[in-house]
Amino acid sequence: MKRRLAILGATGSIGTAALDVARANAEDFDIVLLSANRSAAALEKLGAEFPRALRALGAADAGSRVSRRGREALLAAIGEAGADITVNGIAGAAGLLPSLAALRSGSSLALANKETAVLAYPLVKALAEDMGAPVIPVDSEHAAVFKLLEAHGRDGVREIILTASGGPFRRHSLRQLETVSVKEALAHPTWNMGPKITVDSATMANKGLEVIEAVRLFDMKPEQVKVVIHPQSVVHSLVRLAGGALYAQLSRPDMRLPIQEALYWPETPPTPLGVLDLAGLRLDFEAPDGERFPMLPLAYEAARLGGLYPCAYNGANEEAVNAFFQGRAGFLDIPRVVRYVLDRDWGGELTLESIAEADRGSRELAASRIGG
Ligand code: MG
Repeated sequence: MKRRLAILGATGSIGTAALDVARANAEDFDIVLLSANRSAAALEKLGAEFPRALRALGAADAGSRVSRRGREALLAAIGEAGADITVNGIAGAAGLLPSLAALRSGSSLALANKETAVLAYPLVKALAEDMGAPVIPVDSEHAAVFKLLEAHGRDGVREIILTASGGPFRRHSLRQLETVSVKEALAHPTWNMGPKITVDSATMANKGLEVIEAVRLFDMKPEQVKVVIHPQSVVHSLVRLAGGALYAQLSRPDMRLPIQEALYWPETPPTPLGVLDLAGLRLDFEAPDGERFPMLPLAYEAARLGGLYPCAYNGANEEAVNAFFQGRAGFLDIPRVVRYVLDRDWGGELTLESIAEADRGSRELAASRIGG
């Protein structure tokens, strides 16, 4: 029987990859919902291709804050679609409520929106358990860890090692980083992604968010989640067992692979996408530099402090990245703004209200630091 598939953020890089997988496996999936933020024309085109799918446009406004009208329309459509599985490829904190709505509708969640885990995973997990609906990570590193933990069990795992490409500025000095342009920050060496996440890769905020994501998804202590720079992006992540042995997951850097695995989980059908050839492959690893890339140590700090600190880290970063895009902040202002925001007290219980409050508060504080 065909599975009913919803794709949120259908015109973005994750959505496009998910649609590729769905097209290649049309006998297995019926697309029941497609949503996009601003790409009305692209969504309409998809509507012509998948005429039976519901469409929702305008989940977020230009500042990536969820606008009420668009948000209500999207949440209603998620409830109405009755999907079996939902791919959430929405960028930023705007993805949280759609994740919850999908789970509440009884759908499984193939999660590419890392903010859902960073901001609110305890709430998401409780709802998923109530609904008996699994959350399957799609972020390539977490998809790899998810499979590795399935294979090795989690009891004997000493630590998780997330790989990071290092982004386009891996070799830049602090002085060079001070003056990099938006255009330079958008030229990612291995992954072709949306603009916000590409800048996050360049600052390593993306890896910072992924550290918090891993802590929350896999119930690890922050010190059990390590990061290693691996420019080829072929090893997606590793686990180290108590005995010291390392196990890695390798594949070509192609987001369709983790998406396909999530869509078929717990099965693993043979892939039509081609496999990695080991011959001639070169794999490099090096330690990340927290001095040139302070967004990484700041993320560990937020993870250790817990509560609403991860939410403040994310909100401040989203605001600072927007300011960078608009030419109101330099590249290194991004960690400065986040440092400033994290110096406030973000302790407290995780509820949807407190998360929304911390999200708003951290953006306002960041905006005040950035100024005019
Ligand atoms: Mg990733």
